[in-house]
Order: sequence, then C-alpha cells, then structure tokens
Amino acid sequence: MQRPIMKDEAFLGRVSAPATQDDLAVGDDLRDTLDAHAHECVGMAANMIGVGRRIIVFADDLTGRSMVMFNPEIVAKAEPYEASEGCLSLAGERSATRYRRITVTYRDRRWRERTARFEGYTAQIIQHEVDHCDGILI
Ligand SMILES: [Zn+2]
Repeated sequence: MQRPIMKDEAFLGRVSAPATQDDLAVGDDLRDTLDAHAHECVGMAANMIGVGRRIIVFADDLTGRSMVMFNPEIVAKAEPYEASEGCLSLAGERSATRYRRITVTYRDRRWRERTARFEGYTAQIIQHEVDHCDGILI
C-alpha cells in the first residue's frame, strides 16, 4: 500500500530502531511507495513513510526491480568521492561524501542474513538510505 511521504525534518532526524519480522509489511508498503514515485525517486527509507525502523528500498540497476533490505549495515567501503544528491523528503540538492564500492549486510524478506557488494550509482543510493536510518539528512 502506498503511503504519504514524511517531510517533517524533526521526525526524519531521529535514529531508526532495528526492524523485526513484524515489520515485513512495512517493507511491502515501502516498495509500493517507491514504485509510485519511480519517476522522481530511486530509493527510500522507512522513516520517509513515517515508520522509524531500519528498512530501505532501492531500484536495483542489475535486476531493474525494487529491492528491500531490513537492518542494512555498510560493513566495508572504498574509493570516496563527493556527490550531489536530491531527496524526496527535502528540497534542493546537497553534497555528501560517498564511496564507489560498498559491502552491505542485511536481512531479506524471508529474514535470511545476507551479504552483498554494490558499486556505482546503486551503492550511492544505499548509502543515502542508510543515512536516513541514522537520522542523517543530506
Ligand atoms: Zn533521501
């Protein structure tokens, strides 16, 4: 189910709590909401739909599908660069230091522990959304 976009910076500035299996439906709502905004947005975190849990979704370059991650954690990163990014919850573009290659651990929707490597634009989106989970607004 698509949900409205949260724009309250005080809410978005809070650190999100770990997700549990009770939050699987939030992952579905997050994916539906991203799909509804696909023309203007490539990734979202759960607090952007008003749920303070560590859940992200992004458009995966390789599969072309929206991928949901629960409790994503960036465990390795390499090759920093300066990026300019926009955000559906905020007006304008802001700069941030990103890394071209990252390794992420997370739980999938069947709650299996996964580790995956990403690079380039997909890695940048994941870093932006993990920042949202930490209450960081670029
Ligand atoms: Zn954002």
